[in-house]
Formats: sequence, structure tokens, C-alpha cells
Amino acid sequence: MTNDNLMIKPRVRFAPSPTGALHIGGVRTALYNYLFARQQGGTFILRIEDTDQGRYVPGAEEYIIEALRWVGLRPDEGVGFGGPDGPYRQSDRKEIYLKYAHELVQRGHAYYAFDTPEELDVCRQSQEHFTYNHLTRNGLLNSLTLGDAESSSRIAEGKHFVIRLKVEPGRSIRIKDLIRGDVVFESSELDDKVLLKTDGMPTYHLANIVDDHLMRITHVIRGEEWLPSTAHHVLLYEGFGWQDTMPLFSHLPLIMKPVGNGKLSKRDGAKFGIPVFPLSWKGETVEENFDGFRETGFLPEAVVNFLALLGWHPGGDQDLFSMDELIQLFSIEHIGKSGARFDYEKAKSFNQKYIHAMDNATLVALVRPLAEAKGYQVSDAFLSKAVALMKERVTFLTDFVEMGYYLFEPVREYDEVTLQKRWNGEIATVFAELTEKLATFDFFNSVELEEAVKAFIQEKGLKPGDILPLLRIAFVGTMKGPAVFETAEVFGHEETLLRLRAFLIR
Ligand code: GLU
Repeated sequence: MTNDNLMIKPRVRFAPSPTGALHIGGVRTALYNYLFARQQGGTFILRIEDTDQGRYVPGAEEYIIEALRWVGLRPDEGVGFGGPDGPYRQSDRKEIYLKYAHELVQRGHAYYAFDTPEELDVCRQSQEHFTYNHLTRNGLLNSLTLGDAESSSRIAEGKHFVIRLKVEPGRSIRIKDLIRGDVVFESSELDDKVLLKTDGMPTYHLANIVDDHLMRITHVIRGEEWLPSTAHHVLLYEGFGWQDTMPLFSHLPLIMKPVGNGKLSKRDGAKFGIPVFPLSWKGETVEENFDGFRETGFLPEAVVNFLALLGWHPGGDQDLFSMDELIQLFSIEHIGKSGARFDYEKAKSFNQKYIHAMDNATLVALVRPLAEAKGYQVSDAFLSKAVALMKERVTFLTDFVEMGYYLFEPVREYDEVTLQKRWNGEIATVFAELTEKLATFDFFNSVELEEAVKAFIQEKGLKPGDILPLLRIAFVGTMKGPAVFETAEVFGHEETLLRLRAFLIR
């Protein structure tokens, strides 16, 4: 890093293409950019790279913005956020790229190519692994072979053309990657990438570089899959004469499948029964429907913590970090080179810990919509007691209403197997008596309740094991669930009696 770079406040961008739901790996990329910008007092930009109209998927841009909002990564500038360098959606910047594409031709680093798709198909058929490059371009229809005058008249006539990057052979292109160190590409092996398509739209390569330049991006932090295109990008910077302000590159490690080899794919969600997207997504077909971390019941804080450690660790044993701590500790130097395993069990355990540590009022606000979606009408006071009772036992927010359904609805079925073992005439009489005794209590907290009930059991010459499991079944229908007296306290006096009486006349 030069001194100049140290003095400039970093400007980074997250530049997704709206081609469908944003994969969780994309959220990690956004997070690392965000952490870096926040730590350095820099700027985090959201740019939408939608120049490939063929791959554009309606709703994807909204999905990206909503996913960033959910995990708490607010862009300083960008689509939906404004800023001095807008528009930030590439399809709104078409004229800009057009101008730069022609400029690059004038500077001698690009050329017009008139070959029709059919003509190129013929080349592909006659030549295995045909590519448009320094070896083949001399035999094809372009401004290098036709000359300026002929090219200009073809363009004036309205003939279709593309603009291609002119890659000169025989150079080693060295990329200083902050994560990988020096990466070298041989220019002779590169093709002459299309920069501007026949419809006047730029390709990813041109638009990406022009925008990084115009938006004064200092650091490009992106997925490893973009590393090969960086060689073309360096040539573009040089072609425009922008090499001195070229951003520093950091290519993030791959995210690997939870088990086995290979990188995590969107299909792994269904395969392993886990979410690999931040939010659920409804696609055109069943295969294109994806479950989200949010809908599975994850807290965004837990997802952020999990993603931050997917390829980065500050060293030491700590693994729970708040966003503020992450911002403080983040450093590109501590990002790993090798693939990071998508350990879903770890994500779950983070979620469990974050839920456990969360205050009840915040949990109530998060669980209320889930309860209401199930048709449960409950007061905040009740919900607050219910979440306090359950929060040590749940992994997902949804568990509060799914695993803990018995707190919200009357018991529909009692655990018959246990009842057959423990229920008899004598017990039934004692149970009815206990119910009437409970009705007379003028207190209803778990501690006093436990004392009183245990005293009653002793008085009757019985053991706690004769009665307590049955109380549990009367309250929630099953042997599972939280401690029996705490459960009763959550229900309160009235509901507890209702449940006991319903149980007696079942
Ligand atoms: N549009 C690319 C993507 O979808 C951007 C890659 C980059 O960050 O340069 O990820």
C-alpha cells in the first residue's frame, strides 16, 4: 500500500448482479466490504450491475436491498440510498459506458468487430476451442483488419458491431492481491473480451472498471470467482491511463459445502435441508424456491457473526462478536486463502447463543409476528414470560411458537403411553384434590407453588414422581418441555386451573 492510499479514506462497493436471489456468499462479500469501510472511516457503496439484460430477474434488486437491510449493512451510497456518484444502477449509466468504449478504441486499446454471430459460429465449428484473440483477430472482420475508413463507413451504415479489448500478447500481468499475494496471468492466454455489445450495452468488464474508476473505488473485495477477470481489468485500467488509481484487489476464499468437497451451491440448500440464502425466495419453479436464514428463524446478529468467521478470524479463542467488535477487529490480512467450510451446526449454535443472551422485550417484538401468523392472540406480558421460559431451549426464533406451541394452545392430545403407566383411580382422586387445593392459592409463583405442591404430595404419602410427570402432561400434553412449576407460572393461576380441569375430564 502506498502512502497515498493510506491517506485516502477507502471507498468500497458491493456490486451484485440482480440475476436471482443473493446467495449467502454474496452477503459475506457485502459484510467484509462493510466492515472494512466502517473500520477505516470509509464509504460503502451498493452498485447494481444489471447490464446483462438476458439474466435480469425481476425482484432480485429489491431482494438484495432487503437482505442488506435485514443483516444491518446500510450502504452510504447506492441504489436506494442516493449519493454524489449516481446513478448507481448500471442500466441507468449506458451513455457513460458508450463514451468510454469509443474512447478506448481511440486510444488504441480496443477495436470494432463486425463479425456476425453466424460467422463466429463457423469459426467455432472449424476450430476447436476457438477464441477471439491476438492469434485469430487478424483473420476476422474488425477495424484492425478493415482499416479506419472501411470501419467508419460500416458503422455509419448502421452495421452491427461490438467493441473488443485489444489484448497484446507476451506480457505477464501481475496482480497484487491483498489476500493471495502476487497472482500472474499471461496476456497471450487472454481473449479479446467484448466490452460493448451490439445493443450498445457494456459487458460486466467495461462497466465494472469504468464505475470503479468514476466512483473512486480504492479497494475491490470480492469472491474468488472474479479473480481471472482481474487480468482483463488491469489491462482496461492501463488502456484508459488509470493505472495510478487502480483499486487494490482482495479475492475472498470459496465457501465450501458442509460436507464433502466442492463449493457451496444454491442446490445444497435443498440437498442438506439448510438455508443458503439470507431470505426466502420464490422462483418460477419449485427448484428455484429457496429457504432463507430469516424465515428459518435466525437472528441477523447470529448470521453476521457466522458469516464474518467464514474465511476470517482475528486470532485467539473468542468466536462471538458483535457488529461493533467486528468493525473494530476486522482486517483483510486475517482473511484466509483456502476455502471456508459452511458449518451449519456452527450457525445454529451462534443463533442459540444470541437468542439466549437477548433481552425479553426484544424477543417479544420478534416472536409476536410469528405467534400472530399462527393465530395466537397473546398479551405482551404473557409473551414476555413465555420467551423467558423457552429461550434456553430454542435454536431458532420459530421454535418459540413451534416447539413451544403448547404455551399458546390448549392441549389436544395427552401422552397416552405415560398415562397408562401412571394414571389410576387412586391417583385420579389425589389429582382432583390437588386441583381444588391449587384453586385456593393466593400466590402463583414457581417457587411457592413447588413448595406447596411437594408438601401436598408428601402429605398424601406419595412421591414427587407419582404426580409431577402427570402435572406436566396436564399442562402441555407431553413429557417434553420446560420445568413444570415455571410453566405453571407462565400460564398463571386461571389458565393452570383450566388446564388441570380439562385434563381431569378428558
Ligand atoms: N457483478 C459482479 C457480481 O455479481 C461483481 C463482481 C465484482 O465485485 O467486481 O458479483
